[in-house]
Amino acid sequence: MNSFKDEVISAISHEFKNPISIINGYIETILNSDLDEKTKIKFLNKIHKNTLRLSELIDRLYLITKLENKKLNPNFTKFRLDITAKNLIEGFEDRIKLISKPVTIYADKNLIEIVLQNLISNALKYSKDEVIVKIGDKVEVIDKGRGIEKKEINLIKKKFYRIAKNDWDNSLGLGLAIVEHILKLHNTSLKIESQKGKGSRFYFDITSLINKEPR
Ligand code: ADP
Repeated sequence: MNSFKDEVISAISHEFKNPISIINGYIETILNSDLDEKTKIKFLNKIHKNTLRLSELIDRLYLITKLENKKLNPNFTKFRLDITAKNLIEGFEDRIKLISKPVTIYADKNLIEIVLQNLISNALKYSKDEVIVKIGDKVEVIDKGRGIEKKEINLIKKKFYRIAKNDWDNSLGLGLAIVEHILKLHNTSLKIESQKGKGSRFYFDITSLINKEPR
C-alpha cells in the first residue's frame, strides 16, 4: 500500500502531462493546417501560457526542495510591504481590495512576494467574491469563498495535501507548505481561520519584521 506516494506521483504526472498535451495539440495544428496569421498568433500565445505553467510547476517543486533541505539563504533587505503588495495585486484580477498603511519591513522581498502570491491566488481560486488583503501589524488575506472544514485546517499546510483531490487545476498542494517554510525563515507562521461555506482568513504576524535594522 503505497497510496499516498502513488497519488503524489500521479498528481505530478497529471500536472505535467496536461500542459504538454495542450502544447503538442497546438503545435500539430500549426504544422498541419493552413492557418491565417491571426490564428497562428492566438495558438502561439496558448503554447506560451502552457510553457509558463510548466516552468512555474518546476519552480515550485525546486523551491520546496530547497526550503526543506535548508538550502535557501534568505536575502534580507528593508522595503515597503504595502507598495510591494500593491504592485503584485495590479497583476491579478481586479476583485482584490487592498487595505494598508505604510509598512516598512526587513525581510526577503522575493520570498515575501511568493507568500502573498500564493495566498492571494488561493483566495481567488477558491472564491468568487471580493478578496481583501490587509497590511498592518499583520498580513491578512480574506475571502468569502468555499471555506475549509475544521479537521482539514491544519492538514492543508502539509506538502502535497489537497482537499479536492480530483480538481487538477494547477493544484499540487505545495503552495501553503512553501508559505509556511518561508514564514518560518522570518520567525513567524501562518494562521488560518475558516468556516466551511463561508470563507477563510489566512494571516501572519509581522510585528517582529517591522522597522528592524539590517543585522
Ligand atoms: P494548491 O496548489 O493545491 O492550491 P495549497 O497548498 O496552496 O495547494 O492549498 C492546499 C489546499 O488547501 C487546497 O487544495 C485547497 O483545498 C485548500 N485551500 C487553500 N486556500 C484556500 C482558500 N482560500 N479557501 C479554501 N480552501 C483553500
